[in-house]
Amino acid sequence: MDLILRHANLPDGRCDVDIAIADGRIVAVAHTLDAQAAQELDVRGRLVSPPFVDAHFHMDATLSLGLPRRNQSGTLLEGIALWGELKPHLTQEALVQRALAYCDMAVAQGLLAIRSHVDVCDDRLLAVDALLDVQRRVAPYLDLQLVAFPQDGFYRSANAETNLLRALDRGVQVVGGIPHFERTMADGAASVRRLCEIAAERGLLVDMHCDESDDPLSRHIETLAAETHRLGLHGRVAGSHLTSMHSMDNYYVSKLLPLIAESGVAAIANPLINITLQGRHDSYPKRRGMTRAPELIGAGVTVAFGHDCVMDPWYSFGSADMLDVAHMAIHVAQMTSLDGIAHAYAAVTENPSKILHLDGYGIAPGCRADLVVLQAADPFEAIRLKAARLLVLRAGHVIARSAPRETQLSLPGREAGAMSLEFPPR
Ligand SMILES: [Zn+2]
Repeated sequence: MDLILRHANLPDGRCDVDIAIADGRIVAVAHTLDAQAAQELDVRGRLVSPPFVDAHFHMDATLSLGLPRRNQSGTLLEGIALWGELKPHLTQEALVQRALAYCDMAVAQGLLAIRSHVDVCDDRLLAVDALLDVQRRVAPYLDLQLVAFPQDGFYRSANAETNLLRALDRGVQVVGGIPHFERTMADGAASVRRLCEIAAERGLLVDMHCDESDDPLSRHIETLAAETHRLGLHGRVAGSHLTSMHSMDNYYVSKLLPLIAESGVAAIANPLINITLQGRHDSYPKRRGMTRAPELIGAGVTVAFGHDCVMDPWYSFGSADMLDVAHMAIHVAQMTSLDGIAHAYAAVTENPSKILHLDGYGIAPGCRADLVVLQAADPFEAIRLKAARLLVLRAGHVIARSAPRETQLSLPGREAGAMSLEFPPR
C-alpha cells in the first residue's frame, strides 16, 4: 500500500472512512481499514471528493481579457465582435501559454477534467493545433477533451464543414454545433441532423451549443433529441446552454422533457454566463435565462454545470472554481432543497464525468486515485465556503496543496485568537 487517507467524509454522506491507494488506484474504501501504508494522512473529518469536472469551457479564449480591449457593454454580441477582432492576431504560442496557465489554475482548484470547445471557423485551425498540443502536455495531470465548435455557424460560415472534418481528422474527439446561430430555423435543424450523422459515422460524442437564446421558439433541442434517438446515440450526446427552455411554454416543455430523457441526451447549463448574458432585451421583470435544471433532473436527465468562460471577451470573472459555478446555479435555479444542493455538487463532479465518459472516475476500489481534500466537512459546506483545496491528488500523488484558511483576530477588549469559517471548527 502506498498511501492511506484516514477519517475522510465522502460526498455521498459516508463519514469517517479510510481510503487506501496502491499503484495509482484506489484499492479499498472502508471504516477503520486494518492495513498499513508507506504514507498515512489523517484528514480529520474533511470532505474527500473525486475531482471537479467542467463539462463546458472555451480554452481557446480564456485569459484573453483586455485583448485587444475590454468588452464595454458586457453583452454577448459585443463579446462575439471582440472575439472576431482578436482572432486575426492569435498566435499558436500565445494560445498554448494561456491554456497552460488556465490548466495550472484548474489543477490548483482540484479541477482535473475539462471539456473545451475549440473554434474551427479559421482556415489555419490554429486553435485546434494549439489545444491538441496542450491536451498532450497536460495529460499526466488533467484530462482535456476537445469539441470541434463551428462558432460562426456550420452552414453560415463558408468553410465550417470542411474545417470541422479536418479538426476531427486531427484528433478532436467531440462534434459541436450552434444551430440557433444558423441563418434560419430550418438551417439550424439541418445542421443538427448532419452533425449527428458525422458523429454516428465516426463513433464520436456530440455536444452542441443549443438554443442559447431567450426565444421560446428556438427548439433545436427537440431535433437533437430526435436525431439522437434515430441514430442510436443514446448516452453520447449533450445539449449545452438550452436557455430558450427557460422561456418556453410550459405545455410544450411537458412534452419535451420526457423526449430528452428518452433519448439519453444530457443537459449542460452554464449558470455564471446564462445569468449575465440572457434576458438582455428584457426591461422588468428580467428573465434569468438558465435552463430548467431542477425539472430536467426530475425527469431523469443527466445535468451538469459548466464554467463556460473565464476572463475572456464574454466574461471578465472566474477562477476555475467549480464550487463558484455550483453556488451560482443553486441561487439562479433556486436549488436550495437538501436534494437540490446534493444535485448541484453532483453537477460539477460525477455527472460531467459521465458526460465526458471519463474512465475510472470516483471513490471506489478500482478507480484512479484522483482525489481532492477540501477544507469542509461536506458538499454543502464546500459550496458555502468555496472551500480551500488542501490537497489535490492525481493517481495517488499530491500535485497541488493550499494552506487552510484561518484568520487571526485581535479585537479590542477580547482575547486574541484564531477563527475558522468551518463548522464546527476543527
Ligand atoms: Zn460555450
